[in-house]
Amino acid sequence: MNPSPRQPGVAFLHAPGPTRLPPSVAQALGTQPMELGDPALDGLIADCEQGLARLFGAGPGTELFLYAANGHGAWEAAITNLVAPGQCVLVAGSGPFAEAWAVHAEGLGVQVQRTPWREGHAADPRAVEELLRADRAQAVVAVFVVHTDTGSGVTNDIAAFRAAIDAAGHPALLVADVVASLAATPFDMGALGVDVAIGAAQKALMVPPGLSFVAAGVRALQVAQRNPAPRFYWDWQRRRSPLNYRKFCGTAPQNLLMGLQAALALVEAEGLPNVFARHRLLAQAVQAAVAGWAEGGALEFFVRDAAVRSVSVTTIAVRPGIDPEALRRLARERFQVGLAGGLGSLAGRIFRIGHLGDLNAPMVLGCLAGVEAALRASGIDHGPGVARAVTLLGAAA
Ligand SMILES: *Cc1c(COP(=O)(O)O)cnc(C)c1O
Repeated sequence: MNPSPRQPGVAFLHAPGPTRLPPSVAQALGTQPMELGDPALDGLIADCEQGLARLFGAGPGTELFLYAANGHGAWEAAITNLVAPGQCVLVAGSGPFAEAWAVHAEGLGVQVQRTPWREGHAADPRAVEELLRADRAQAVVAVFVVHTDTGSGVTNDIAAFRAAIDAAGHPALLVADVVASLAATPFDMGALGVDVAIGAAQKALMVPPGLSFVAAGVRALQVAQRNPAPRFYWDWQRRRSPLNYRKFCGTAPQNLLMGLQAALALVEAEGLPNVFARHRLLAQAVQAAVAGWAEGGALEFFVRDAAVRSVSVTTIAVRPGIDPEALRRLARERFQVGLAGGLGSLAGRIFRIGHLGDLNAPMVLGCLAGVEAALRASGIDHGPGVARAVTLLGAAA
């Protein structure tokens, strides 16, 4: 295979993760690592833990566990600590990521009940409530909900799932995957009554892949303590140690932690409410463009209800006969815009624009212009998209 020739200028990365690295994060990644006894390493870890605790809205007694692993590693950590093989969890269907998490739990021998997912819609808290009411034996250990299902582009209402569990009077834990929403969409695990929250570095946190984290509340820690299932690398009990070598079950991924520290500093300097508002505005610009393109009749929003569209990623369904993979290839090769495709049952039916992390208005407009040029070059009918986004951003400024 020939290496692709260098393209002048900047390549636009608009997958919903990994996302663009801010310069201070990129610089941290190139820093010399330390020896494991250096107190600066303990300081770095403590800094990351405290910053993440603030970001998660972790209440008193909540503990943070950081893993040298991608998001799937944090899924596995939550599953293996909370549930033994043969025990049961309930997964709220919301798209490919909820389904992949369910399959992951099944792969570890856990029984999984799923609530049905209606394509283009958010997960259904009433279906969760009904299944929990029917669970007289209280066999369900935990309810898994993906906050933003990156595969479908919906953001689920976490508070509604807490209310559903409470309405059913069921002791199940609420476990939320906030990998794609953390530092993009408001989330506060303490206020929402979330028992376990799961995040990863390479989405709105702007760090390269390879670092993930779990925040476990008091009830979850108790459930884990009673769980007899064997586990080692992921084990929360084993990682509760002041020694960094134990905390990470081996050498800490120092440079990723330095990158995370730099990213958390950026988020805190901008101010979390401003970070959320910026994501909302940029998402509105993308949505304005998609609404404009859709007037051509060849494309449409995959998520029907505008209120549950994610601020991190927008999913666009293409008319049968259009190949979204060819469009992505064209966008990447001719216009230097990297987009995401369809996962699972959505492969070949959708493409996705990521708009999370270190982004501003002209960057998003550049991405949209690249996509629009690729639509034109592909002969895909579309209305004016970029112009709508410009209008929206101009009016908001
Ligand atoms: C990206 C993502 C994951 C998986 O993360 P990996 O790092 O790819 O393993 C899990 N859940 C959600 C919601 C995601 O967006």
